[in-house]
Amino acid sequence: MSDWQRTVECGVLGEAEENQQVQLNGWAHKVRTFGDLVFIDLRDRTGIVQVVVDREETPELVNTANTLRSEFVLSIQGTVRKRMPGTENPRLQTGSIEVAAKQITVLNPSRHIPFQISDEEQMQNVDESLRVKYRYLDLRRPKMFQMLQLRHSVIKIIRDLLDAEGFLEIETPLFTRSTPEGARDYLVPYRLQPGLFYALPQSPQQYKQLLMVAGVEKYFQIAHCFRDESQRSDRQPEFTQLDVEMSFVTQEQILQLIERIMTTVVEQVSTKTFPRPFPRFTYDEAMALYGTDKPDIRFGLTLTDLGSAVSRCGFSVFDSALEAGGTVKAVRYPGGASLSRKEVDALAALCKEAGAGGLATIAVAQPNPDEIKSALSKHLAPAVMQQILQNCQAEPDDLICIVAHQNPKTVAAALSRLRLEIGARCGLRNRDTLAFCFVTDFPLVQWNQEENRWEPEHHPFTMPLEEHFEFLESDPGKVRAQCYDLVCNGQESASGSIRIHRADIQARVFALLGISEEVQRAQFGHLLDAFSYGAPPHGGFAPGIDRLIMNLLDEPNIREVIAFPKMGLGYDPMMDAPAPVDQKQLKELGLIIAPPQQARKE
Ligand code: ASP
Repeated sequence: MSDWQRTVECGVLGEAEENQQVQLNGWAHKVRTFGDLVFIDLRDRTGIVQVVVDREETPELVNTANTLRSEFVLSIQGTVRKRMPGTENPRLQTGSIEVAAKQITVLNPSRHIPFQISDEEQMQNVDESLRVKYRYLDLRRPKMFQMLQLRHSVIKIIRDLLDAEGFLEIETPLFTRSTPEGARDYLVPYRLQPGLFYALPQSPQQYKQLLMVAGVEKYFQIAHCFRDESQRSDRQPEFTQLDVEMSFVTQEQILQLIERIMTTVVEQVSTKTFPRPFPRFTYDEAMALYGTDKPDIRFGLTLTDLGSAVSRCGFSVFDSALEAGGTVKAVRYPGGASLSRKEVDALAALCKEAGAGGLATIAVAQPNPDEIKSALSKHLAPAVMQQILQNCQAEPDDLICIVAHQNPKTVAAALSRLRLEIGARCGLRNRDTLAFCFVTDFPLVQWNQEENRWEPEHHPFTMPLEEHFEFLESDPGKVRAQCYDLVCNGQESASGSIRIHRADIQARVFALLGISEEVQRAQFGHLLDAFSYGAPPHGGFAPGIDRLIMNLLDEPNIREVIAFPKMGLGYDPMMDAPAPVDQKQLKELGLIIAPPQQARKE
């Protein structure tokens, strides 16, 4: 054994080890030198312990100790002792003891580090790209190590649960052909025949379905997925999802499995509360109640449809919206009656951002006609105003916020945005709650106005409701799908579906999506063929692991839960990737680089 090998880890030391001789390995987290007395906070992945070098006890060590700096790698021998009364450090797990050093070996010195790992408060102000450039230092922070530990635990809990339920973990290829999930593909040129490309998987969707055709019945994978889409704080170009597929399964069994997985994970790694069973909404219900298919159900304040209350009321904004097939809906803002004009304008601006023309409000001192304040009073009869308040179940001090538009989706988008804002302002988006819910029965397709075609709401492999097969050609917008999302605190945390397992239905859905027979054969011939060889009914789902960790840690930035994330525009400042390649490689691949202005179109 090397003479620097540790006998024990820093973070586990306590009074039980008093008087023991120990050898520790780790990094100098902080060094405080007072000439004859040097304190070294020694850190390893288990925690931090204070080491003391005192000239009176070990004069031969003091000179070395005075040369130590943060992040030197050290091996320290010493004796554990209780700290002097009054010098304990309650912020440290090991704060009641210290180690009196007998020998210090510098295993490796360190240059001055670009940020202060030991100062969490200061770290909050360090530029994030600097942290990502030096990620190997950033990950030394206890907070980041704890994140990695949590990720590991969550994945292990999921693996153990699925293993116990008979699932097989199977890896599927990363070099494949395109599987549409609604984003652009990352392509890998094929050297042996320039002009051909592999696509990196947006998800293992087709492979997992083919595994069901292969008779695997229960599959899962902690899968790496690649999607070239615009970046957001909760998106990365490559990310991890738990990918699951099962044969001979009903939607109900799948929803129960998702709920079992999430419940087990949250119960084992978190103290957050979560309502069970997970509430379920159809897509139509979610849209009606919350104006979104990703409802944050930590609070109520559901939307009220005022269609009947304001029908033919004589106010042209409401009348014309309703006549054009639109809606008039409202959300309550408890305590909002006292908002200033400027504050109400800010709410209206949110609605306008979502496409609405504006916002009408009723400030309710008391829910009787004499004590309301609203520009609408000029346009609406007192009885109509009264009906609105009644339908909204208005209470004293409420601000009733009303949006009208000829497009119901615009009203939904504006009020959903407003509802979240109101929830936040009223302190209703409780950070200690994980409010999961399922949303089911999504439309199979949605109309893409710009491209003048139907596109899948989820992906093209989703099974329509059987009773809606007949509308696939005649009225596609009416077709509902056997698909479901798991939503947590207003964000999608998993999606999945019962899949099409019949070649004829798959061909009809491809046709609906405008995929010609020729393209169907060329791009999905393998799948259509597989379905003609006895494909079992099957279905599955895929929760994002990164988003789950974000929820557990209440962390809004996805980069904080990934060991080596990409910054904006997919740039990795640590590896300096993407990077140019040399001409020889380009030539081998048969690639010629277009001038920048042509190549850089977003
Ligand atoms: N492949 C889908 C996705 O990645 C999930 C699923 O349908 O299982 O979103």
